[in-house]
Amino acid sequence: MIEKILQLEKTARQLEPSAEDRHLMFDKAQQYTEEFLNSLYPVHTYVADGSGDNSDFNLRINETSSGIEELLSFLKKNVDNPGINPASGGHLGYIPGGGIYPSSIGDYIAAVTNRYAGIFYASPGAVRMENSLLAWMAGIAGYPETSGGNLTSGGSISNLIAIVTAREACGVSVKNIEKSVIYLSSQTHHSFEKALRIAGLKECVKHYIPVDSKFRMVPEALEDAVRRDVHAGLKPWMVVASAGTTDTGAVDPLDNIAEVALNYKLWYHIDAAYGGFFILCEEGKNLLKGIEKSDSFIIDPHKGLFLPYGSGAVLVRDKSKLYDAHYYQAGYMQDALAVNEELSPAELSPELSKHFRGLRLWFALKIIGLSPFRAALEEKILLARYAYEKLSRFSNIELGPYPDLSVFIFRFKPSKGSADEFNRKLLEEIHKDGRIFISSTMINGKFMLRIAVMSFRTHLEEINLMLDIILEKLEVLEN
Ligand SMILES: *Cc1c(COP(=O)(O)O)cnc(C)c1O
Repeated sequence: MIEKILQLEKTARQLEPSAEDRHLMFDKAQQYTEEFLNSLYPVHTYVADGSGDNSDFNLRINETSSGIEELLSFLKKNVDNPGINPASGGHLGYIPGGGIYPSSIGDYIAAVTNRYAGIFYASPGAVRMENSLLAWMAGIAGYPETSGGNLTSGGSISNLIAIVTAREACGVSVKNIEKSVIYLSSQTHHSFEKALRIAGLKECVKHYIPVDSKFRMVPEALEDAVRRDVHAGLKPWMVVASAGTTDTGAVDPLDNIAEVALNYKLWYHIDAAYGGFFILCEEGKNLLKGIEKSDSFIIDPHKGLFLPYGSGAVLVRDKSKLYDAHYYQAGYMQDALAVNEELSPAELSPELSKHFRGLRLWFALKIIGLSPFRAALEEKILLARYAYEKLSRFSNIELGPYPDLSVFIFRFKPSKGSADEFNRKLLEEIHKDGRIFISSTMINGKFMLRIAVMSFRTHLEEINLMLDIILEKLEVLEN
């Protein structure tokens, strides 16, 4: 047997590259990322699929090693080319992604050292770091020290965790689900309803509260709905407000909704996935007043702090509620459960083993410092307003509400023919061009173009380029 073991060992040891191989691999990867970053200007944001060769993906996974250069050239051609380039400052569609560099170093180190960040006993340092980052987020929102949270992979999972917490805290179960009412608006992000379904709550009663002309939930209408439901023998359970809607960046009146939630003992959840970090700048702070009165909120560092994808957070005002919904027990976990100076991510989320997400956030905040983040967030708000004002001087434009944050909608009225058709074609032309990327949405049955300024690489130059491109394509279409 020893002979066999030693023979296997020889091959198994290839899992550990030599120092020289590590250097080589790292150098090549770094060369690749440097080339990538250095080719971001001039801005190029969108390439339709079909430029690569999809049959390349029929690659077999072989028994033996492939060279890193071959792999990187595959990556460049087939992965880092087609589609939207989220690293480009010309990305003005959906909610643009980030990817600030120090986070990549945090990820790299976290992957190499591979600390077990799920459990305090296994890595007290990693868990302390993640908990302190969550405490910082709770602090900027004005939550008390009794709050707790979890660093998630993004807003969708954060919403799911909040919903499950609210479900357990309020005793919603198969016994009363059909009488339990959730209040939301037509502008609530789809991930919330998706999470409700995943959490087994799709049979809940959903009441969509009307919005005002700026797409904000009307608190008086909420109160009326709740009162009617109580009267009808239903059980008002949860209200979800948005702090930065996806379509128009609208912030619901958080303070007034808090009042209704308090009066009727509703679980008050705020989806601040996109808008939450604007609390770091003067322009955003006032708008987000009232977030501290919620029972839970979600916030996405991969949006508002410009981190790479895979960084969300959920915060719960009373951390025992989060724990009650997610704790676990198992014989083989007894050593870990005995050491509980700090609550562990595994007790506060559906995950057990997990990526040490905190390090990418900690590196970004510590290496850069807060003030560039504050400046960038305020800059994005002002860039959106600048773009809005410039566009308002274009002829035949129909603009949505003036942006509170950094998202707005608009469309053009063509001299003849269908407006939906015209704007769809305009969008197509902009995408074909590819230098910048904007998206579209349907509002009240109308096809609207939509701009979201959220990339840390979007500055005045990119906004001016976008305005030029829109003008250029309008002329092409009108002729
Ligand atoms: C982006 C977003 C989500 C979903 O977050 P992911 O990180 O993409 O999962 C939820 N709500 C709002 C308001 C968002 O902007």
